[in-house]
Amino acid sequence: MNQNTVMIETELGDWRRTHYSDRLSPQMADSDVTVMGWVLSVRGHGNISFMMLKDKEGEIQVLAKAGSCPDEVREKISRLKAHSSVGIKGTVKPSEKAPRGIEIIPKEIRVFSEVEKIPPFEPYAKTVKNIDTRLEVRPIDLKRKSLQHIFKARSKILQAIRNYFYENGFLEINTPKMIATATEGGAALFPIFYYNKEAFLAQSPQLYKEQLTMSFEKVFEIAPIFRAEPSRTNRHLAEAISIDVEEAYVDYNDIMKRIEDLIKISIKTVNDYFKENTDSEFITVNMPDKIPQYTYSELVDKMQKVGAKTEWGDDLYPSNLKKIGLSGFYFIKDWPIGPKPFYVKMSKSDPKISESFDLMFGDLELSSGSTRVEKRAELEERMKNKGLKIDAFEYHLRAFDYGMPPHAGCGIGLERLIMSLTGTENIRDATFYPRDVDRLTP
Ligand code: ATP
Ligand code: MG
Repeated sequence: MNQNTVMIETELGDWRRTHYSDRLSPQMADSDVTVMGWVLSVRGHGNISFMMLKDKEGEIQVLAKAGSCPDEVREKISRLKAHSSVGIKGTVKPSEKAPRGIEIIPKEIRVFSEVEKIPPFEPYAKTVKNIDTRLEVRPIDLKRKSLQHIFKARSKILQAIRNYFYENGFLEINTPKMIATATEGGAALFPIFYYNKEAFLAQSPQLYKEQLTMSFEKVFEIAPIFRAEPSRTNRHLAEAISIDVEEAYVDYNDIMKRIEDLIKISIKTVNDYFKENTDSEFITVNMPDKIPQYTYSELVDKMQKVGAKTEWGDDLYPSNLKKIGLSGFYFIKDWPIGPKPFYVKMSKSDPKISESFDLMFGDLELSSGSTRVEKRAELEERMKNKGLKIDAFEYHLRAFDYGMPPHAGCGIGLERLIMSLTGTENIRDATFYPRDVDRLTP
């Protein structure tokens, strides 16, 4: 073989991939192909090197053997470190010993980005204990199989949820994320500079989505919410994605039905994904015919019966929910009105409670929703009682002078939904680049 004709290029140039790895088959024996991806591993000795190349669809073995490929190519391959980004032109060859019954005999290689360092963890690593080590090099971390499955399932779930809304006559909206006043007044807001004024990052699209039911009746938004959560937990992020729904001429019971539809669709999607990807190690999620509904008061009674320290009016803490052994998806409805935001409607049958619900998965809250107040006078009354400045909300209240329809809605935390469906323990692994008290990079 001529030793001097092969140069190792480092630019993509006019090379284009002809096949993803999963498209290569023994039937393609002797075809010339161009594959691209990153190096998973290189092993070998002396005159023979085996490289596993990974692209977004799978893996393929490249066999560089003296005599059957140019020496420069073989030597280059033998020295490549994991994660290096390369392109290979070569010939497909069936091989009983190769992982998928085929391998590529390389003719040329282009090394686009050569890794010189030892990566902080192996591309195959099943678990890497320290999440901070992983997050520091998140794009590499996200190549690992377990995370690939979470995010591929997440994308499918989002697609299914969007389809549901489109098929059911909802309009997709986007509301401002830079706002002048807090939605619910008070805490957990990130202040920002807005030209020469103070403003905030939106903690929820609440007021805007309510207003938009006047114009469009049925709206949804899938977008970030910002919460200056002071605590370090496995279920809170400073920036999360909320699936927000708002619908005119319905009440909170109708919204619970919508959620039931969405949960059913999400479970079907994730179970289908699981069937197609048997290595994903997701646990099949069971869907009851109906998501059980418990009233707040009923659960307080149950808690008191098992000796949990809780009073009517207290929040239902995860530790107490655990004590009464609730699991899977369920609703807690008819919460005390006291702690609820001003826009949540009071129950007609009992002024102490509200037409509201939380969707739960075990002790994890996935969604809060309610019937909303549609009458300006009632809203103002509620705001006054909460010590909110009515003037600051005039931009919102003014809309209620012009025929606000009765409406209801909810916000579902996407990351928490993904946690429940994929068995992910830490919310940081249900988002690409988590933001929390300690983390603003990468
Ligand atoms: P929690 O009590 O768990 O802090 P919350 O009641 O303050 O949640 P809501 O204001 O009701 O949250 O928001 C609706 C949904 O948005 C929640 O049920 C949850 O799924 C999601 N969510 C809210 N805050 C966060 C957060 N900081 N990180 C991730 N998801 C969140
Ligand atoms: Mg809530």
